[in-house]
Amino acid sequence: MLNFTIGPVMSSDEIVEVANHSTPYFRTPEFSELMLENEKLMLEFMHAPANSRCVFLTSSGTGAMESMVMNILSDHDKVIVINGGSFGQRFADLCSLHRREHTVIKLPFGHKLTKEHLAPFAGAGYTALLVNMHETSSGVLYDMPMIAEFCRQNGIMLLVDAISAFIADEIDMASLGAAAIITGSQKALAVQPGVAVVVLAPEALERIERNPEVCMYLSLKDALRNAERGQTPFTPAVTTLLQIHKRLTGIKENGGLEQEHAHIAKLAAEFRAAAAELPFDFVSEAMSNAVTALHPRKNNAKEIVRIMKDRYGIWICPNGGEYADSVFRIGHIGHITDEDNALLIARFRELNEEGIL
Ligand SMILES: *Cc1c(COP(=O)(O)O)cnc(C)c1O
Repeated sequence: MLNFTIGPVMSSDEIVEVANHSTPYFRTPEFSELMLENEKLMLEFMHAPANSRCVFLTSSGTGAMESMVMNILSDHDKVIVINGGSFGQRFADLCSLHRREHTVIKLPFGHKLTKEHLAPFAGAGYTALLVNMHETSSGVLYDMPMIAEFCRQNGIMLLVDAISAFIADEIDMASLGAAAIITGSQKALAVQPGVAVVVLAPEALERIERNPEVCMYLSLKDALRNAERGQTPFTPAVTTLLQIHKRLTGIKENGGLEQEHAHIAKLAAEFRAAAAELPFDFVSEAMSNAVTALHPRKNNAKEIVRIMKDRYGIWICPNGGEYADSVFRIGHIGHITDEDNALLIARFRELNEEGIL
């Protein structure tokens, strides 16, 4: 099976090999050391400012989203939520659930956020902004420097879900001035699902310290306390953390994050050049390297996903909800080679020649 979904994605053989053993015991100096190295590399790759910290939660990415809403935000906040699709909606739902006062900027599917959208919220008492850097459901990459500038000018704390953007798109946490950025193990980190990563700048660390404890399992205060010695409060997804270590040190040794980033960008550019010649419309106004969302002009999107899987053993990603029949997505993250990409393109061309697309 070739997997061009957006997560879990394909892993390299050396990552798969890490899971081919019984899980080791983890309350050991060796595991602690490995975790401290994971923290250090994540801070480096996110370009986190001085005195930032990083914790690893055993949860899917949504656990990290919820941990930010619960631990960093409080009853005193007034939050702006950017909602351009299902992941933006999830932040809005989390704010409602945890009773955070919030206003949603709802964008039409596939549309980018502009200065004009944000302008009415300037000087209006807002204290925090939640955004999914890449809204994975529509493939839109938001203009983060523009959002960061708005936040800076208005003294608004910036909290970023970069779960699908990390590694695929450039992230400079320090220059964005973001208080927190999260990612997850099953996207471009390309290891098993089960771990969410939370990178915290001093601004967020102070908030977490000051806020009352509101949960146990997703407590960032507790996670931070344990991480000081390279540990976690509860049994973590040990194997996934070992895989993350293999992956992060591998990136470091093989030319750094820029190399990874360039490969993903190349896969995306090649695929998009080919897709432009096929009966598809691009859904997103501003695309992330991670994903291309396409609207097939003739056939049903779900049907194309099914044909690719049944006929060629190629998984592409269906959309859910109201876009299930009209949009599918191609992921460019994970262990995808140039040959894999060429094969994907060739298969689409084949279907087009047969009039199936
Ligand atoms: C994948 C993803 C998530 C997390 O999804 P989980 O299924 O909880 O891991 C959150 N936000 C974005 C933008 C994502 O792409």
